[in-house]
Amino acid sequence: MRITAAVVEELDGPFTLQTLELDEPGPGEVLVRLAATGICHTDGLARHGDLPFPLPGVLGHEGAGTVVAVGDGVHEYAENDPVVIGWPSCGACRNCRAGEPRYCLRLGEAVAGGGRLDGGSALRRPDGSPVASHFFGQSSFATYSLTTADALVKVPAELPLALMGPLACGISTGAGAIFNTVRPSAGAQLAVFGVGTVGLAAIMAARNSPATRIIAIDRHESRLALAASLGATDTVNATVVDPVAAVLELCGGPADSALECTGVISVVRQAVDSVGMLGTCVLIGGAPAGAEFTVDHISTLWGKRIVGVLGGSGRSRELMSTIMQLYAQGRFPFDRLVQYFELADVEEALEKSYAGEVIKPILRMPS
Ligand SMILES: [Zn+2]
Ligand SMILES: [Zn+2]
Repeated sequence: MRITAAVVEELDGPFTLQTLELDEPGPGEVLVRLAATGICHTDGLARHGDLPFPLPGVLGHEGAGTVVAVGDGVHEYAENDPVVIGWPSCGACRNCRAGEPRYCLRLGEAVAGGGRLDGGSALRRPDGSPVASHFFGQSSFATYSLTTADALVKVPAELPLALMGPLACGISTGAGAIFNTVRPSAGAQLAVFGVGTVGLAAIMAARNSPATRIIAIDRHESRLALAASLGATDTVNATVVDPVAAVLELCGGPADSALECTGVISVVRQAVDSVGMLGTCVLIGGAPAGAEFTVDHISTLWGKRIVGVLGGSGRSRELMSTIMQLYAQGRFPFDRLVQYFELADVEEALEKSYAGEVIKPILRMPS
């Protein structure tokens, strides 16, 4: 079928709207008409080559829409079902079988192989030349997406569908780090480094936990003010004070957990140094390819954990459905992070996100 998609032709090239041909759904696959898709910095990383994806190709990995058609063997979904397209996974490897599909041993191929996990791009130009598809199993900068039924999560009919796409990645990443990894105990003290989409989602999740101190650290006062309104109990402007000293003072010692959401190597070290013995530093931010960090051996040895979390861990369905319900109950108001753009304005949306003017851009698809 014919679709409209924002194609990237080469590294750092612009997004150009083009007409492409998309395959019909095969066994286990679902065709989704996208209502909207979030954009996150991972799309920018892929265009820049830090996350290698074959080009020309179609990016986009936070799609929400309605089911148009299903392939053989798909019984759980039917036409017009509203869905979010979550992360892909093979479903068969050791980690998938252990209930941790975010750490699928075939994750690299599944998110950035440029086609279906078992071969072949689903997108072609009208002249028949291939265009890489299935970025994060979906390539959602397009009017339609071909994905697998396993990746989908149903959206309750009463929720605004266009808003739900970011649950596929950025929002779940921050919330899952709290719900699945940190699991704050009563009276826990947390420090969140970087309050963009992921950090703010972590703060909203922490507000739904028994943590009693939630410290937001950032360089932008506007974001710190937003963090405070979403549940941060304290804010620290890292351009004004030393954030590690500020955390130690606020907590009366090291924090129990620190979440590093920036991917900036100097901030990684600050996050590690903000927690002490038996504390946990959670690394979430995506650093440039090849980046390394160092830690102090002795102080890190004493029961401190440094753990990387991808996509919030756990299973999409449980995590995303939980956030949808919390949103409906007014306990997770992530709509306050969002600004809508048209698909044609994808470039502007990404630029405004990098500039910090927009926290979570969402692209609406042309009808
Ligand atoms: Zn797997
Ligand atoms: Zn993302």
